[in-house]
Amino acid sequence: MDRDNIPAYTSNLTRNYSIASLAGIVIVAVTLVYFYQHLATHSLTQRESQFNSDLARTLGNTIWTKYSNFFWHSSEMSADELSSSRVIEQIERDIRNKTLGLRVLQVKIYNLNGKIIFSTHPSQIGDNEYDNRGVKAALTGRTISEVSFRDSLSSLEGEIFDRNVITSYVPIRRSFDQPVEGVFEIYTDITPLLADVDKTSSQILLVITALMMVLFLFLMLFVRRAHMIIRSHEEAHEIEQKQRIDYLEYHDEVTGLLNRKGLLRQIHHHLTTEHIEGVGVGVIALKLRNLSAISGGLGHQRVIHLLRLVSGRISSCATGTQNISHLDSSEFVLIIENLISETELDFMVDKLSQLFAEPFVLDHSSITLSISIGADCSWGGKSHEALVNSALLALTECKVKNRQYVRYDESMELSRIESLTFEVEISRALQEHEFALYYQPKINLTTGEVSGMEALVRWHHPKRGVLSPNSFIGLLEERGYIVDLGNWLIEEACRQCKRWHNDGQSNLRVAVNVSLKQLQFPGFLQSVVDAIEISGIEPRYLELELTESMLADDTEVILDVMKNLKKMGVLLSIDDFGTGYSSLSYLMHYPFDYIKIDRSFIRDMMHNRDHAILTNAIIAMAKSLNLGVVAEGVETQQQLHRVREMGCDEVQGFYFSQAVEPRKFMYVVSGINEAAADVTNL
Ligand code: C2E
Ligand code: CA
Ligand code: CA
Repeated sequence: MDRDNIPAYTSNLTRNYSIASLAGIVIVAVTLVYFYQHLATHSLTQRESQFNSDLARTLGNTIWTKYSNFFWHSSEMSADELSSSRVIEQIERDIRNKTLGLRVLQVKIYNLNGKIIFSTHPSQIGDNEYDNRGVKAALTGRTISEVSFRDSLSSLEGEIFDRNVITSYVPIRRSFDQPVEGVFEIYTDITPLLADVDKTSSQILLVITALMMVLFLFLMLFVRRAHMIIRSHEEAHEIEQKQRIDYLEYHDEVTGLLNRKGLLRQIHHHLTTEHIEGVGVGVIALKLRNLSAISGGLGHQRVIHLLRLVSGRISSCATGTQNISHLDSSEFVLIIENLISETELDFMVDKLSQLFAEPFVLDHSSITLSISIGADCSWGGKSHEALVNSALLALTECKVKNRQYVRYDESMELSRIESLTFEVEISRALQEHEFALYYQPKINLTTGEVSGMEALVRWHHPKRGVLSPNSFIGLLEERGYIVDLGNWLIEEACRQCKRWHNDGQSNLRVAVNVSLKQLQFPGFLQSVVDAIEISGIEPRYLELELTESMLADDTEVILDVMKNLKKMGVLLSIDDFGTGYSSLSYLMHYPFDYIKIDRSFIRDMMHNRDHAILTNAIIAMAKSLNLGVVAEGVETQQQLHRVREMGCDEVQGFYFSQAVEPRKFMYVVSGINEAAADVTNL
């Protein structure tokens, strides 16, 4: 699945987790450190304040008691008198002694009026600080401490800088129940203690961060794992969704079989796959004739149920390589890949007919469905699409012919094309060069090698696939198009034959079928001359095939044309011999070189004695007239053996090859020539 399609919340899971966790770590660490600092500073202040109180009490017990007289009179003394008093010096000395080694920076003593009566910073002596918050509180009996930062400060040791200082105002009294007599103000340096707190804070911050990072990384592994699991679930879900959509698009909702679109996709798929020689494809189209008549009385739900039963029954006679489509409510199409024989197709049709002869049981009532079946099959040369169209066309013929089963044949195509705008189709086909010649080899029975080939026209119809001449030659003749097309076909056959001559197959003879209309056309002879000239082929390598029926009309003209052709050196053969008004006199009057025994004789002689006798007689007669004999439609080794025994000169038929495109022809020729001994030793 495309990564971009993963919902943003999932694809960012790891990133979001990282950001949130790191932010969390920072917040937690900073908060903890802040609280620690707050608590540590608070407890430090408490402790130092207590320390100052204790110190004040000690000083009170000693200094206040010792100099109480001086203090009592201090309120009457001016600032100068106080400063210059020798007692002050003594007090200072005593205080220095008492605070030696302690972090005391300054000591002040206030009397009850808030006047500074002593200070380790002498210039302050005499100042009145009655309004000072600390002094006021201490005079009421409360000890108050505050922490502050000082840029510079006069201490007992002199001027000092950048210090954190705790200042405590401590009431002086002889005991707790005695009145306040004065106030001590003691400054203590807590800079190193706060530095300790800071240091400890940093260490705590470090430890907390490290621990949280470990936790973070640990959880990160979980998150990443979870992320991957979610993503693979989402991908699987998306694939499932796509498959579901795909399924709905190409399958029929009711029966679960391929729908029309699914069938088209299937057909399209086969367009791109290479056809395997000798493997056939069959298509059966089935219509439920009376479904619409009975569905009104059944109601929607029961019709659905019935269709499911129908599709189940059709599916029961299909195997893995056969696929079934449900085109609309009453039409089904079955494609049989790897068809072995036409019998297999007929067998399938029989099986379907039998299956539908049984009634369907629906809510205790039985329903008999009547069906029509159209079918077609091909062993190459016809696409799946063309086969489906043929089978559907055959299906429509069931109604016309009032039969349950109709096998497709090309005459149906003829009537369809006729009913379509044939003129439009044909002129496009001529313009777009949709006509092409395929070649079927003729094998010389003495050498076993290919002696020539019959050129057979095909129509590469853009929609209906490769059409056989039986479906359109009649109309081309009728509408007069055969003349132009026929001329082109002769020319093209000559050119192709010359190419093969040039490629080393210099004895090949090409036979082209000619219609009566062509022969009757005044310019025919000239067109043959032109074809020979343009291609550069020797006339003896061109053979024209005429049918018996042609000779019944316009006898003189035809005979004249034939004589001229003979003069030119072109060979002539009589096609489909035995099917028309066969008469010995034809053979004697007309300058033929070969007779081609119609394939119906070859087919029937194996199991019909009369046909065998007749075929033998035709061959004998031809021989006596010095004509070459070609057996058409040889499909089996037995037939080949038989016609060889009878003295045929050449054979043509599916036993050796169908008509193939020019590019495949040489490949077919070499295959036959390589196996020539198989024919001669037969
Ligand atoms: P045709 O001249 O009798 O051609 C022989 C037909 O028999 C060909 O059918 C060929 O494919 C088929 N065939 C050959 N060997 C066998 C076999 O062993 N078994 C079976 N079952 N059939 C075999 P195709 O090509 O469909 O041609 C049908 C007819 O269309 C031809 O019959 C011919 O009358 C006409 N035709 C073909 N090409 C042309 C053409 O260029 N011009 C004219 N005017 N008619 C043509
Ligand atoms: Ca022919
Ligand atoms: Ca023929």
